[in-house]
Amino acid sequence: MRTIGLIGGMSWESTLEYYRLINQGVAKRLGGLHSARCLLYSVDFAEIEQLQTAGDWDTAATILADAAARLERGGADFIVLCTNTMHIVADAITAAVSVPLLHIADATADAIRAAGIRTVGLLGTRFTMEQEFYLGRLRDTHRLTVVVPEASDRELVHSVIYTELCRGEIRPQSRTDYVAVIDRMSAAGAEGIILGCTEIGLLIRPADSRLPLFDTTRIHADAAVAGALG
Ligand code: GLU
Repeated sequence: MRTIGLIGGMSWESTLEYYRLINQGVAKRLGGLHSARCLLYSVDFAEIEQLQTAGDWDTAATILADAAARLERGGADFIVLCTNTMHIVADAITAAVSVPLLHIADATADAIRAAGIRTVGLLGTRFTMEQEFYLGRLRDTHRLTVVVPEASDRELVHSVIYTELCRGEIRPQSRTDYVAVIDRMSAAGAEGIILGCTEIGLLIRPADSRLPLFDTTRIHADAAVAGALG
């Protein structure tokens, strides 16, 4: 079994899900008492969030590249960055290590294409819904058409992530609001929805949505298990 190097803490609420899903996935594949061989470097999310808000991606890149290098020195065979948003600095992480980075958008796009879907809605932070590092990769590398929520919906989705989900707060009203956003993306042509923030799966379950959901946390954790076990 290869050793998974997790960069977590963004937020720790979703890193817990990764840890659980990866261990459950290994146990399912290998049976018995098997569990995942992994290392976790968990950052202080307040520091990362301040850098996001300031647009200081260079400092954030330095912090996460350093985390990846520490994981490699500790024996990680590949790196899993447990957040969609911070893949904005994926290139810096890749450059800092000689082991591969398992990119969350690639794993997600593979799952979407395997489901036969070509037009997909995207929920995530403002950065993920608006910037090229994510949208461009889905469009140019994976040939997907991506529908994003309108501006006021993006603001709502982003705000719920930082003020509720990353703090462990799950509010029924926010679930209702998210479902309404999903319905508007469906009307705009989306055939499925990317839960493109690793906390959204804590709020929205498949039964809440008329469209199939692609939960990046689950997909990324499954890809990590596949990478560990081959
Ligand atoms: N976990 C979230 C994501 O997947 C948001 C937190 C962050 O900004 O990293 O994008």
